[in-house]
Amino acid sequence: MPVFVDPSPPGVCIFCRLIAGEIPTAKVYEDELTLAFMDMGQLNPGHTLVAIKRHAATLLDLTPDEAAAAMRTAHRVAHAVKATFNPPGITLLQANGKEGDQTVFHFHIHIVPRHSNDGIALSWPRKNPPRELLETYAEQLRLKLG
Ligand SMILES: [Zn+2]
Repeated sequence: MPVFVDPSPPGVCIFCRLIAGEIPTAKVYEDELTLAFMDMGQLNPGHTLVAIKRHAATLLDLTPDEAAAAMRTAHRVAHAVKATFNPPGITLLQANGKEGDQTVFHFHIHIVPRHSNDGIALSWPRKNPPRELLETYAEQLRLKLG
């Protein structure tokens, strides 16, 4: 993962500053709950971020309406990215927590246009546990979901 260092003062969130207009950004789309803007790093042309306007650090801090709004905006922007840059692939990346590779602790979704051999890689170390173990995991989750 690329290393991004937030240049904002301690306790101040760079995305909140962007959303407030304190830092200039190349805005793509805005609605009541979300703002989409160009990622400064541009892994490929058209790389866009969708952020929730209210400060919420992770997916788990969103309201259901904000979560739905974020995906609705990501879906809309992905169509625009496809129509504009025509990448053969698009990857969505949404990271939560330092261990989840989150670098800006304000909820956002990356919309990354993808091309063959574009140098972007995600390590995916499969563990392939037995099916019985998967059933116990599923049962635990079902109990929490009610
Ligand atoms: Zn924020």
